[in-house]
Amino acid sequence: MRAAIARLGFSPGLVAVRVGNDPASEIYVRNKAKKAQELGLRGTERIFDASMSEAELLAEVERLNHDDDVDGILVQLPLPKQIDPRKVIDAIDPAKDVDGFHPVNVGLLHLGRPTLAPCTPAGVIRLLDSAGIAIEGARAAVIGRSDIVGKPVAALLLQRHATVTVCHSRTRDLPAVTREADIVIAAIGKPLFVTAEMVKPGATVIDVGVNRVPSTQTKSGYATVGDVDFARVAEVAGAITPVPGGVGPMTIAMLMKNTVAAAERRRG
Ligand code: NAP
Repeated sequence: MRAAIARLGFSPGLVAVRVGNDPASEIYVRNKAKKAQELGLRGTERIFDASMSEAELLAEVERLNHDDDVDGILVQLPLPKQIDPRKVIDAIDPAKDVDGFHPVNVGLLHLGRPTLAPCTPAGVIRLLDSAGIAIEGARAAVIGRSDIVGKPVAALLLQRHATVTVCHSRTRDLPAVTREADIVIAAIGKPLFVTAEMVKPGATVIDVGVNRVPSTQTKSGYATVGDVDFARVAEVAGAITPVPGGVGPMTIAMLMKNTVAAAERRRG
């Protein structure tokens, strides 16, 4: 990607906006800005106090929308409770919405038209492709129906001709659904939720979950685990992604790809 960016003749600009000091957001945004700089993008972090008002953040987004040097804008979620995230997402220029959360981009995604697809779901598809997993005709079970992971990953799988079942907290007999699947995508936010009994032998398991759990093995006293019981599920799955190291880095790669695509389209 670095060579493709160098060939552009300009350096696409990505601005990550962070409000407050949520430690996880701090790490995510820092990693994104670092990767952007490594690849030759202009990655900038805008950090605001947790007391920022909704009107102030909307004014900042408006300023970035009109800044010609800015090709991609991302506002790190979650936001402090005085700010409605929907209003903020709706305010971002869809052409600069590199997270792919704006309703216009969500609509285009569900229509199967070219758009800026959300980064984590796009990263999941890229992982499947790079491992040579056939998506067309496969049965896929997506566990989770959030706007940022579950729903868009289901839309992308459907676009690629998988037969998709979207599961959630009211799904009856979830293990019976997941055991039918050739591809299981776990995006729940519950440590070790997916067990070996829920997976068909040979199935592909993609673990989107990022959960902090107490640990005696680390200096910080915490460890990061996914939504899948990796050690046991790995014994039955045909392929499985680890946490950390699977979907996370791919999400950042897709953000960079979206920033380059947004820059190319906008600067035409
Ligand atoms: P979310 O908005 O909290 O959604 C969780 C989903 O899981 C909901 O749809 C919920 O169902 C479903 N769920 C909860 N308990 C369940 C149960 N017992 N059985 C079946 N479904 C259940 O979470 P999210 O934002 O999609 O994130 C999911 C995970 O992915 C989190 O761990 C998050 O940190 C991680 N994540 C990772 C990345 C990355 O880059 N690697 C990016 C984004 C998110 P209902 O809708 O019925 O409540």
